[in-house]
Amino acid sequence: MSDVSAQTPVEQLDAFRHEARRWLAANAPQEPAPSEGLEARDFVLRWQQRQHDGGWTGLTWPKRYGGRELSAIEQIIWFEEYAAAGAPSTHDASFVGMNHAGPTLIACGTEAQKAFHLPKILRGEVIWCQGFSEPGSGSDLASLRTSGRIEGDEIIVSGQKIWCSYADMADYQELLIRTDPASKRHHGLSWVICPMDAPGISVRPIRTMAGPKKFAEVFYDDVRLPLNNVVGGLNNGWSTAMSTLGFERGTASLALQIRLVYKVEELIARCDDPVLAARLADLRAEAAALRAMTYRFALANEDGPPSSEGSMIRLYFAELTQRVMDAAIDLYGVSAGCVLKDHGWGFDYLDGFSETIAGGAAEIQRNIIGERVLGLPRGAR
Ligand SMILES: Cc1cc2nc3c(=O)[nH]c(=O)nc-3n(C[C@H](O)[C@H](O)[C@H](O)COP(=O)(O)OP(=O)(O)OC[C@H]3O[C@@H](n4cnc5c(N)ncnc54)[C@H](O)[C@@H]3O)c2cc1C
Repeated sequence: MSDVSAQTPVEQLDAFRHEARRWLAANAPQEPAPSEGLEARDFVLRWQQRQHDGGWTGLTWPKRYGGRELSAIEQIIWFEEYAAAGAPSTHDASFVGMNHAGPTLIACGTEAQKAFHLPKILRGEVIWCQGFSEPGSGSDLASLRTSGRIEGDEIIVSGQKIWCSYADMADYQELLIRTDPASKRHHGLSWVICPMDAPGISVRPIRTMAGPKKFAEVFYDDVRLPLNNVVGGLNNGWSTAMSTLGFERGTASLALQIRLVYKVEELIARCDDPVLAARLADLRAEAAALRAMTYRFALANEDGPPSSEGSMIRLYFAELTQRVMDAAIDLYGVSAGCVLKDHGWGFDYLDGFSETIAGGAAEIQRNIIGERVLGLPRGAR
């Protein structure tokens, strides 16, 4: 074994890359992931456990909660090797826990919340989902109406959420509710950890046009949650939610952004049509730009909730995804096997429509870029 302390930083990163490549070659599942239900949950948790046992989860998370405290560069290298190995998409049921519930707990949670929840997420013992959106309160999140009445040391929750990805298989939810009945808009909200098996919760899955029942409506009928489950302070939930959305719109899609670059290369390798080849060359250039922006952003935002500039990359990624999927369908034709099969380009094409809605619709990302990044005046409301 080589002496790590004698290596230059570049040699150390190279060694890290080779170790990641070797481990993924031996361990990454090559079979398609089941797309819904308990089978999908088992698959995701088993893969997460295997990565944890290999030392590959929570690369940038604090060591005291099971992470490795490595830098964003190592995280990027891992995701590059992960994409090159064709490992399962990270946009699965582990997404919320790993990419925004966990990071929000690290940024805003109490010591007890972090010590209890973070190791469980990393070890692949639990699935998290998000309960922010409501019928009528998606883009306008501050208009949400699900309420939490304080009684002693409990909050009694009543109302409804919608579009909660993987809520049918989740153990916990990041739940945003109104805890001050006299409050308006973004005041008087609380971000609460909600166990999905609490009495009074019912979940109704919703099938997407891509096929699977990927998200769900969640109903709360006098659900009792301990006040200790509030993250970031009672009635201070807007601030905690902004951290969550900062992660969701900022660094959460890092692996997916890197994966898209590899997807473009996959299409180029299969293309023998000169007209389509010219289009794919443009997409390769766009993917290179996405990659450069992604890496710059990840390195600049490694120490806390990411800045609003994340919306620029999130939006570019979402729209580029749709252009890449269009090109894939044009390359293969709609009836090719690799388009029709469950995990093929056809699924990615249909699923890609949601990219400009999830985590904030394209128009909302443009508003954020205009107002918070460019400092343009807010439009009339
Ligand atoms: C795949 C997927 C997964 C999701 N997962 C979750 C989840 O796990 N948890 C969760 O809570 N939510 C989730 N969502 C919901 C998502 O956050 C909302 O769909 C999104 O915020 C848009 O809200 P809405 O659907 O209510 O649309 P609306 O807010 O009704 O918007 C409708 C249209 O009006 C436009 N619009 C609205 N307001 C403005 C404005 N001020 N300026 C310009 N245009 C505007 C929007 O851009 C959009 O085109 C998910 C959505 C998708 C598609």
